[in-house]
Amino acid sequence: MESSAAPTVSAGHDPGPAPVDLLRRLRARGAGDPVTHVERVPARVGVPAPWPAWAPPELRAAFARRGVVAPWQHQAEAATLAYDGGHVIVATGTASGKSLAYQLPALATLLADPRATVLYLAPTKALAADQLRAVAGLELEGVRPACYDGDTPRAEREWIRRHSRFVLTNPDMLHHGILPGHAQWSGFLRRLAYVVIDECHTYRGVFGSHVAHVLRRLRRQCARFGATPVFVLASATSGDPATAAGRLTGLPVTAVTEDASPRGGVTFALWEPPLLPPDSTAPAVPAQAAGDHDATTDLVQVRRSALRETADLLADTVAEGVRTLAFVRSRKGAEVVAANARRALDDAVPGLGGRVAAYRGGYLREERRELERALLHGDLLGLASTNALELGVDLVGLDAVLICGYPGTRASLWQQAGRAGRSGQEALAVLVARDDPLDTYLVHHPEAIFGAPVEATVLDPANPYVLAPQLACAAVEAPLTPADLALFGDGAKEAIDQLVEAGALRQRPTGWYWRHRERPEVDLRGEGGAPVCVVESATGRLLGTVDGGSSHFLLHTGAVYLHQGISYVVDDLDLADGCALVHVEEPDWSTHARDVTDLSVVSVRSYVDAGPVGMFLGEVDVTSQVVSYQRRRIATGEVIDTRPLDLPTRELRTVAVWFTLSPRSLASAGVQQADVPGALHAAEHAAIGLLPLMATCDRWDIGGLSTALHPDTEAPTVFVYDGHPGGAGFAERAYGTASAWLRATRDAIAECGCETGCPSCVQSPKCGNGNNPLSKPDAIRVLDVVLENLPA
Ligand SMILES: [Zn+2]
Ligand SMILES: [Zn+2]
Repeated sequence: MESSAAPTVSAGHDPGPAPVDLLRRLRARGAGDPVTHVERVPARVGVPAPWPAWAPPELRAAFARRGVVAPWQHQAEAATLAYDGGHVIVATGTASGKSLAYQLPALATLLADPRATVLYLAPTKALAADQLRAVAGLELEGVRPACYDGDTPRAEREWIRRHSRFVLTNPDMLHHGILPGHAQWSGFLRRLAYVVIDECHTYRGVFGSHVAHVLRRLRRQCARFGATPVFVLASATSGDPATAAGRLTGLPVTAVTEDASPRGGVTFALWEPPLLPPDSTAPAVPAQAAGDHDATTDLVQVRRSALRETADLLADTVAEGVRTLAFVRSRKGAEVVAANARRALDDAVPGLGGRVAAYRGGYLREERRELERALLHGDLLGLASTNALELGVDLVGLDAVLICGYPGTRASLWQQAGRAGRSGQEALAVLVARDDPLDTYLVHHPEAIFGAPVEATVLDPANPYVLAPQLACAAVEAPLTPADLALFGDGAKEAIDQLVEAGALRQRPTGWYWRHRERPEVDLRGEGGAPVCVVESATGRLLGTVDGGSSHFLLHTGAVYLHQGISYVVDDLDLADGCALVHVEEPDWSTHARDVTDLSVVSVRSYVDAGPVGMFLGEVDVTSQVVSYQRRRIATGEVIDTRPLDLPTRELRTVAVWFTLSPRSLASAGVQQADVPGALHAAEHAAIGLLPLMATCDRWDIGGLSTALHPDTEAPTVFVYDGHPGGAGFAERAYGTASAWLRATRDAIAECGCETGCPSCVQSPKCGNGNNPLSKPDAIRVLDVVLENLPA
């Protein structure tokens, strides 16, 4: 949830050096200049708008009591669009006050029509609870807001169904509870005026595709009762939000993206840790042979680690008296950064190290408040934290933010950078690149960060593995009719035919009927196979679930598994029982699973014939097996060893994008025949690393395969596929943006300063072949051939 952007007042504190001077001193420290770009993000003056004429005085007064004297322009614009009956998505930055954009039309309608109702959906119970506090705090007569989720006591449920006019829930509860019980909810659904979908960028991939159909089922039930609610969506900044919202809801949606809330100026530096001199390069530890793969080369560390660099920067800013927050991905990483910074400070001035601390997700509320207080008053000057700090913590008045590694999306990056800056004060933000192709690309391509948003929220409602079970759920709620085919979209007829053939549906003159007694079991957050439960051995406590597809990677025996910032080690993965037993432990290493893959083409959906180059999108069958895992030292990234695993193969029918090149074009580009495998393999690794630039996905969502001769394409080929049954939209997005995606891949490789390839460009920590063979210069030649021929 976000409060509207009210100015904050911080305690008095010496502001320290100006960001520009501070940055100059930081970059003058070492031999070379690690800064690749400095962006000055100017302060923005907020643009307030008058209250819309339709907003009733009592609502304005309620907001005024909460400190909102007038809406910002984007809030008023989105609110009026929705009030006039248009579906709208507001996609603006953190703390820009998106909640007012939906609260205003929804609450105005509830006040004007004493029968109308509103359904609010949040991805988590915690967010729904926050929003409940905000709406209840307005103290509006007759709204009676209430949360309805798995924790709601039975005794209260009936009261909520009958009397609440602002019900806050989550998609899982809508799917498992509200829609199957639509008869009991008929009074509420009949009068439903608005559906609010908060943080809708979290509905991506397979989960997002499921939610898209849950929303279609909701629209279908409303239509049966004669209601056509207006959808209002709120999203973090993202690429093409109108299209994503349209896919999610199945409706035409207007986007409001111009952020009119005020913000302080930020000097934003992109920082690439220097390459280590060759003699100091940590030697590769010989890897144990994994399966039938003889791993000869391995990840060699050639750059200073982002953690060490961040620790030094933290020590330097604290020494300057600058209040600094460092964001580090893992809790262990945050502790390493804090410990190293403390040591460096104590070496310089004994006792100074005490002003740096690590901040972890697991802290009790009182401990967190104490840290906040110490930082606010300057007793504490430096804090290293996981992004747990993004949630439920109120820190104001920081002078600098260090971000150790790109956090995955621009939305998170801005959320973290947005922590810096007191009202009216300039602040410094530094993104420290990790040794990863995407980080390398970004520090050399500031336009991808500061220019137009590039990553889009991707989902694919046509995925047959999602569509068929969702249609089964819909059929239980009410028989499917030909009119429903358009609602559920592409592939609905084929999916229904399959359900009929499988004996799940029966066709009658009035529609398709569910044949069984029991409802189908469909988990929105799982897929295909059953999800694997993560259980704490000592207590039997269920920590959470991981979908079957990722479980071999994340929960193999010996894996270090992070859950809400706490580190666990897996004792045993029991696939027969679908559970992984874990214990709390924070070793000095992280684990990286590796797999080997076989792939065959099933069908081609679309292709581009570009002379010697072909670009394809289609279905493939992937057989993969996680064969080993690598342990890497957290502080340095150094490889400790590679350990074999004994896991079964997995079969996956999914969607892939692939490109082929003629052997002749490779030869004339100067790629020797013997180097073709290494060239394609290196291009594949980097291409996978850069795909998150185009679509919000991470490593576990995508896989790849490259070969100098594939039996199905009869040519040198690179495949990149969705790691989810039926595909999740990532390969499709890659195909749609192929030239931009491969251009970025090519640039990331070419711009890495290493000589023969490193983890910042063409090496991959999850490679099943031990990063062998790889040819960095030839990968650039391969991608040049593709880009020269492929239409933009
Ligand atoms: Zn490199
Ligand atoms: Zn590989």
